[in-house]
Amino acid sequence: MLFDTHCHLDTPAFDADREAALVRARQAGVSRFLNPGYDLASSQRAVELAQRHPNVYAAVGVHPNDAREFAAETLDQLRALATQPKVVAIGEIGLDYYWKTVPPQRQAEAFVAQLELARALDLPVIIHCRDAYDDCLALLERHGRDLSVVMHAFGGELSHLWRALDLGCTIGIGGPVTYPKAQRLREVAASVLLDRLVLETDAPYLSPQPHRGKRNEPAFLPLAAAVVADVRRMRIEDLARATGDNSVRLFRLEQTHE
Ligand SMILES: [Zn+2]
Repeated sequence: MLFDTHCHLDTPAFDADREAALVRARQAGVSRFLNPGYDLASSQRAVELAQRHPNVYAAVGVHPNDAREFAAETLDQLRALATQPKVVAIGEIGLDYYWKTVPPQRQAEAFVAQLELARALDLPVIIHCRDAYDDCLALLERHGRDLSVVMHAFGGELSHLWRALDLGCTIGIGGPVTYPKAQRLREVAASVLLDRLVLETDAPYLSPQPHRGKRNEPAFLPLAAAVVADVRRMRIEDLARATGDNSVRLFRLEQTHE
């Protein structure tokens, strides 16, 4: 059974068929889910979703593209959300220089404040990083050395991978590993130590082949898992077990939370 460590089931994209999507996922062999937030409202929705469903967990955080209004009160509200049952991480947080909607300095302030929140609450963090690996890794090297970190939807160079692994990061791989041109990402998927690898869909985004361009959902996770298992020359069952164990350890799911 697979663990989808990054899916946005709380978003309006699933308003029409959220329950059915969970049923389809379970039928496809995906049995556990982590729903991160990207702002306060989605973090709140993630917490509510997790509290309604067994095997659905939540992370709370403000995404770099939503960090324009980040303030001390935002941090207070995140702290209150983070202490709710079934919240297992702070995320998704990080840096995104692709969209250029929020100035880098603003993104960095929100990122570091949330890394400090994670440390204060003793929670792991889920990192979103796009076109910003050098700055993101530098901030993690300065402010996140003692934290448990997942680099979600990893898309950096191999040099960034080595730096992230040196920091102790776990690497999240999903749909893009199935794209014909994603040779470097398949190299990443083949190179990561098995105990530092987790799987994710990022649904409703980043649909794998052959669903590219349409809405993604957790039931499609086996498509990415099959490619990762293939490049690692291992059976998908063994990959599922190892990445599932990694997820449970990283998000400390053996303790309480149900
Ligand atoms: Zn995401």
